[in-house]
Amino acid sequence: MSKTVQLADAAADFVAEVEHASAANLAACLQCAKCTSGCPVAARGDVKPHVLVRLVQLGQRDAVLGCRTIWECTSCQTCATRCPQGVSIAAMNDALRQMSRAAGKVVAGTRVPLFNDIFLRTVRRLGRMYEVGLMTSFKLRTRDFFSDTDKVPTMLKKGKLSILPPRVAGKGERKQLFDRARRAGGAK
Ligand code: SF4
Ligand code: SF4
Repeated sequence: MSKTVQLADAAADFVAEVEHASAANLAACLQCAKCTSGCPVAARGDVKPHVLVRLVQLGQRDAVLGCRTIWECTSCQTCATRCPQGVSIAAMNDALRQMSRAAGKVVAGTRVPLFNDIFLRTVRRLGRMYEVGLMTSFKLRTRDFFSDTDKVPTMLKKGKLSILPPRVAGKGERKQLFDRARRAGGAK
């Protein structure tokens, strides 16, 4: 088999893998860049959203799974709303984040995977978000004790922060839900 055919096969495999994991129809992308022009965090990433779609189409697995953009995406859905082809980059990025972690390709310096882990662990244990507990765990793990602390007084005043953790019934059901999601995602 020629090198060109091998590369084409690898690209097709990667696109199929991402489309299967995200249900996003990436082949439909026209490269119009409407997604990028509306993305609130496009300037923070190392690859623009429409370019990321193109890299997936081209089978650039390492570049895609190792980029910063997938971790900067806030899943705000602006790109999907603006896309004339109905391509969901938010769903694509969700899948790419999981693939990136599974492949050990997470870009250096991002704290998003840690934040996500603590967020999910909090929801699993307590049944809903407990911001004080989440931020305490996050700051202890990152040793970043002072960023965003200026927002605490306002959040307390507006009743957005509860000092005590919530009490939500259904711990067993939550465990079942998380176990089912983990199995569906292929995690051990
Ligand atoms: S808006 Fe849609 S079609 Fe246009 S570049 Fe972005 S993903 Fe592709
Ligand atoms: S979902 Fe992600 S890529 Fe799309 S506009 Fe929002 S932040 Fe940007």
